[in-house]
Formats: sequence, structure tokens, C-alpha cells
Amino acid sequence: MLPTILFSTFVFLYGIVIGSFLNVCIYRLPKKENIVTTRSHCMQCGYQLKWYDLVPLFSWLVLGGRCRNCKAKISVQYPIIEALNGVLYLVVFARFGVSIECLLFCLLASALLVLSVIDFRTYEIPFGTNVFIAGLGLVRILTDWSNWAEYVIGFFAVSAVLYVLYLLTQGKGIGGGDIKLMAASGLLLGWKCNILAFLLGCIIGSICHVIRMRVTKADHVLALGPYLSIGILISALWGNELIGWYFSMLQF
Ligand SMILES: [Zn+2]
Repeated sequence: MLPTILFSTFVFLYGIVIGSFLNVCIYRLPKKENIVTTRSHCMQCGYQLKWYDLVPLFSWLVLGGRCRNCKAKISVQYPIIEALNGVLYLVVFARFGVSIECLLFCLLASALLVLSVIDFRTYEIPFGTNVFIAGLGLVRILTDWSNWAEYVIGFFAVSAVLYVLYLLTQGKGIGGGDIKLMAASGLLLGWKCNILAFLLGCIIGSICHVIRMRVTKADHVLALGPYLSIGILISALWGNELIGWYFSMLQF
């Protein structure tokens, strides 16, 4: 019991540290700024953050969400992304334990978090996050070589259909970033889980979008990335169980 608690604490702390890096990605990727070399600074006064201002979650709480220098408000998005990434790592760890899947799907969850926030804001999925997920897919193939065909078919299973839709609607029906995302996730999840991921994403997206339009009278433009991301993550975590359960239901 104690080792599990210790290990989970470690996983969570690791998650919020990575989460703090994700915040940097979320702000800098759309601006094409360098995510490594530029020092973190206050957006308001330019105050360069010291190491003790950069402790994930805790710095924000200690400073009461304000800049140490000019007291300008620091977005609540920072601690939320950090905490969320920590929780996601805990969920993935609880599901897979110490394994290669745990590592790959933790990194997947982080990439999905980044691209979801960016897509929600800019209607654009960064090419880099899709390449990153495809890279995770290549690692999966190499570590699960006997099933390589599953993943290669997964790369095309949803994306090819979406690409035809893209051509037919001249780019209005679906975004290029969404197609690349489904190709990359297919390489990582395999074709069965990837089709499930896409269906889940569409269902969750339709429900959320109808509610959002009713409540906020929001614009009709739909950023699909966040919903696809939720579908991909659910499918990565429980896809095989959901598919198994579905087909066992069909037999009765
Ligand atoms: Zn400041």
C-alpha cells in the first residue's frame, strides 16, 4: 500500500512539472516562439521569473495568482493545466502501472492537452503536437512489433475517410489538423481503438456543442480537436475493454 501511495505521489508531482512545461507550449507554439531557450517572464511587466516562481501549482497558490513584481493577475489557466496534467498522469498510471503503455499514454495525454487548448483558442492544431503523437506511435510499433499491421492500418483507417470528406467539401467539412491528428493517433492506438476514438469524439463533440450553443449562444464554428482528444484518451485507456464489451453484447 505504502509503495503505491509513494509512487502515485511521485507520478502526480512529475505530472504537474510536465504540466508547467505544457503551459509554456500552449502560449509559445501558436506564436512559433522557441519553447526551450526563451526565459519565462511576466506578460505584463517582463519580470523574469526566478526558480521559486516556477514551482508548479505551489508558486501560483503562494503568490495568490499575481506577479511577484507588478501584482498583475496571472491566468488561472496555469495551475489548472498543471493540476489537470498531474491528475491525467495518475489516471494513466492507475490503469497501466509501470509499463511502456503508461509512459506513452502519459505523453499522449499531455500532447492532447496542449493541442486541445490551442485548437479551442485558435481553431488550429499545431503540426508539432501531431508529429509528437505520431512519434509515440512509432515507439509503440517498435515495442509491439508482432502487431505492427494494426498500427499501420490505424494510420489510414480514419484519416483516409476524413481526407476524402476534406476533398469533397473543399476543406469546409473538416480541418487538415484534425485529419493529421487521427492519422497520428491511429499509429499509436491501432485501427480498432482509433475508430472508437473518432466515434467517441464525434458523439461527445455533438452533445457538448449543442449545449454550448444553447447556453452561451456561441459561434457555430466547431473546434473538433478537444473532442477528438477526449475520444482518443478514453480509447487509449479503456478502448479494448469497450470494444470487447460491445461485441459481447452483440452476441446475445
Ligand atoms: Zn509582472
